[in-house]
Amino acid sequence: MDHQKEIEKKKYRNWVRGGLAYKYLKQGLENFADDVVKREHTRILASINNTAHTNCNFCLLRNLQPLHTCKKGHNGQKICPYELFNCNCVHSKKQPCPSSICDGVMEEILKSHGSLPPQPNWKNTDIKKWCTEPWEVAKCYINAPGYADKKNAADIDASGLLHVFINNTNLHSHLACSMTGNTNIFIKTRARRNSIFHSPSMEMEDKELNECVDDIIAILEDAKEIKTRDDAQKAVTKLKKLRYDDFVITTHNELEVCREALSTVTRMTVELNQLIQKTKVDIDIKQASASKAIDSKIQTVLQDAAEALANNGELKEVEQAIKVLNTKVDNSERNFKQRLIQIENDIATLKASGDQQKTKERLKYLEDKQKLQGELVKYYQKYFLKTSVSPLKQEEDNIKVKDVYVPPEIEVIEEKHFDNTDKMKQKTHEKKYVKRYQEIFQTKKQQNKKIYIVGDVGTGKSFFCKIMIENWCEAVNVASRKEIGDEIIHISSEIDIYTVNRC
Ligand SMILES: [Zn+2]
Ligand SMILES: [Zn+2]
Repeated sequence: MDHQKEIEKKKYRNWVRGGLAYKYLKQGLENFADDVVKREHTRILASINNTAHTNCNFCLLRNLQPLHTCKKGHNGQKICPYELFNCNCVHSKKQPCPSSICDGVMEEILKSHGSLPPQPNWKNTDIKKWCTEPWEVAKCYINAPGYADKKNAADIDASGLLHVFINNTNLHSHLACSMTGNTNIFIKTRARRNSIFHSPSMEMEDKELNECVDDIIAILEDAKEIKTRDDAQKAVTKLKKLRYDDFVITTHNELEVCREALSTVTRMTVELNQLIQKTKVDIDIKQASASKAIDSKIQTVLQDAAEALANNGELKEVEQAIKVLNTKVDNSERNFKQRLIQIENDIATLKASGDQQKTKERLKYLEDKQKLQGELVKYYQKYFLKTSVSPLKQEEDNIKVKDVYVPPEIEVIEEKHFDNTDKMKQKTHEKKYVKRYQEIFQTKKQQNKKIYIVGDVGTGKSFFCKIMIENWCEAVNVASRKEIGDEIIHISSEIDIYTVNRC
């Protein structure tokens, strides 16, 4: 492999390792997230005197009259004290919760939302479960769609968990790190996840990977509560192993990261489309109330753009529409401005991620590879992994290799070359006993191309190869169910193994 290819391969390996770092972050964080979300839920219910966890089956979000009341602006218009656009408090025909439950929970959600104005994501939640399902409240803090059917932390990806910790200011008391400003490690880690999974080149520099792993470890070693938790410590151990150059990336791991990358881009397109639609609806409402005149032509452009995005992912038209809108919207319209900035940022990220052709191709390759591995496992298990107990009883050939295998003592003989004074090359041999397959497959971290297993007749050379195949089959099967880093799974197809009888 030439130098350039070697570098590209290294950057790709870094990218996969970066993706895995987020998987470990989720593993280390989810039980803690479950605990603090439950504690916060208990606090909310206590604050509204509903310690019996009684649900209200009456209220709907669109009809619920909040506890807070609107203010009057200088020209008499109704203004939400939270500065929420089109909040239920400015509408007179909304209904209060008959059990005095839903309005209280809603107020608590608004009060502890960290953004200005607060922007709980009501699309992710079911108001009827607010008093019995802690995550129905917590999911309001995930500022992205796609979590409506998720029931607990295990169902929610690393990005969703980070959103909850960033946006719910009441959870900050469980953390020692600073959560203020836009540079805290939770925000940085969430933003970095997007840039990794949107990377069309599927590459990551060493420095980026190290920073990513450092920040995730810092989250999982947060001194206040997370650090002492068993699952966080296990995740940190895995994250530290990610840094090793010889960290084994299995096909299963690669597949997981590629799938996650593709689904992240798809989800972002859906989010963007929803945001555009919502902005359009809000502009319609504003126009209807005639408090702000927005050119109807812009409305049409925005509608066309949203349709273009939904139909073929064409971003140019959306970008054009947003640019025009931005010039028309008054600076005082902070809600709109913020939303338009977010749309612009999302478009820029999506454009940079391209059509993810490389990720799709890699995913296809990995799926084919995994399929081939599965077929090989079946084939080997059927034809190679049974034996007879004795060469004299060949007909009794249904015995599992593993049941009768006795590991042979194997030593690797490495050739060493020395230049003597006569410039003649002289070979010396060095012996070492083999404990790991890697010692057979590699010499000084370079993969061996040809391996000769030499021994007397009947000493178990073929058996050794059979058991190696058996171990490989097992590793492939286990890797598809759970994560392992067994070196055996990584045997390259480029290795030839010969068994040779010693004469
Ligand atoms: Zn309001
Ligand atoms: Zn209610």
